[in-house]
Amino acid sequence: MKSLEMYLKSNPEDPKLFRFKFRKQVREQVDFFPEASFTSVNVSKLVFKSSQQQALCEYHRKGKGSTFKADTAIELFGMGFKGESVGDSKQVAEAPEGHLHCGCPTREVALELFLWKTTRAFSSNPKLLGRSYTMEELSKLKPSTRTFWNKSIRDYTGLQVEDFLSPDYGSDAYAMRIALTQLHTQVERLKALRAPVAVELIFPDADDGNYSGNMLQYGMEMGFFVTSKQLEHYWDELKAKRKVFPLPLITRKD
Ligand SMILES: [Zn+2]
Repeated sequence: MKSLEMYLKSNPEDPKLFRFKFRKQVREQVDFFPEASFTSVNVSKLVFKSSQQQALCEYHRKGKGSTFKADTAIELFGMGFKGESVGDSKQVAEAPEGHLHCGCPTREVALELFLWKTTRAFSSNPKLLGRSYTMEELSKLKPSTRTFWNKSIRDYTGLQVEDFLSPDYGSDAYAMRIALTQLHTQVERLKALRAPVAVELIFPDADDGNYSGNMLQYGMEMGFFVTSKQLEHYWDELKAKRKVFPLPLITRKD
């Protein structure tokens, strides 16, 4: 594991450093090296690269040739292009932009990997209270199911794939960014709906005084410490650049 941590600190997008043996373990063992699922879309793409240098999602890696399809005007399979799997690395051509060789969109596969590695669920049985479960055996969603589930998460939260994937996952800074991004989405939606509410966000800097200059600098570098100025800056960026879409509710046609 030490070598994997070193790898993330050096150049996480270098396939030579992220050896096939480890990529396979990341794909097959839910607890193994979760960092590979939240570093960047490019690192997630690397996770799916086979020893033949082709990138296939788990569904297609373990599926049959008949599972390679392409979306049509009347049916969504979750694959932008009809992919293929070849046995020899010399035959591997460049995958279409933004897609793996199986035809699945890279960002959709990256979000599935992230959710698979990081989600914990609980039983409805009161006797199992407090016990959490991983998605150990559920590592190959059908591409169409993946597309719909990913879309619903993005729609309701306003979060995009790149929001979830960040090397500081697990830190307070990450959790605050995720919360602020959603808050921005929901505030903008309320405004668009002309809801009679006013939300004004204030970033008081009283707490920052508790830390010395060195501590402040160290905390900012390590990403475990968040100042009001940092939050305010992030909020201003959201307001300036972030496009918010209305919640895509279906309408009854009766
Ligand atoms: Zn695929």
